Amino acid sequence: MENLLVEIKDRSAAEILAWALDKFGAKVALASSFGAEDMVMIDMMAKLGQFKVFTLDTGRLHEETYQLICQARERYPQMDLRVMFPDRTAVEEMVNSKGINLFYESVENRKACCYVRKIEPLSRALAGLDAWITGLRADQTPNRSAMNLIETDRVPLTQQTIVKINPLLHWTNDQVWNYIKENNVPYNVLHDRGFPSIGCAPCTRAIEPGEDLRAGRWWWELDNKECGLHVGAEGKLVRATVT
Ligand code: SF4
Repeated sequence: MENLLVEIKDRSAAEILAWALDKFGAKVALASSFGAEDMVMIDMMAKLGQFKVFTLDTGRLHEETYQLICQARERYPQMDLRVMFPDRTAVEEMVNSKGINLFYESVENRKACCYVRKIEPLSRALAGLDAWITGLRADQTPNRSAMNLIETDRVPLTQQTIVKINPLLHWTNDQVWNYIKENNVPYNVLHDRGFPSIGCAPCTRAIEPGEDLRAGRWWWELDNKECGLHVGAEGKLVRATVT
């Protein structure tokens, strides 16, 4: 992994994406929630040719997110998009036993919902890939500041080793939005309504000026701003080996 880091550490985000497509071909995909960072990378990758994207449709997304997905499919025909849904039986068992909005009742319930609606579908999306690309930025959370441009990761359910690439790790929020404006990139209109980070509708709110960028995620919990896609159950980066 150190060799790969040496190969990309001085490259721009667009150059890292080009490198990733060249290196991993059809075995690399961008994980996208269609947030601002993801739209930047979708635009960059579209300029390189065909590319794979997967998104997790938890069944609880904002309507605005679905609208953006439609918009992105039209704007970027180079995008090979795979929409991952949660296991129907698991969702039915969960909501029938614990309630449709179980996540508000306890951290345990919230993690159970994220597991069924995100972690298990993520594991299926990553199966068969050698690498995945994320829109993580270092200044979003303390956990993320400990990440690197390229890491060894593990698929949650299988523990299969996979490379994780974070091309925008060192970008600022301003850089993201400057790119979007300069390149006329479509984006989720919720960003204009105070949502810097957009996830599931019941678990995301707008933030006030000056609040932390992740303050709108699971706002009823005191200090947990990750869903488990990038951290372990204790909030530590157990699935990522920083190299
Ligand atoms: S973010 Fe909320 S609704 Fe979405 S999977 Fe997690 S707990 Fe469930």
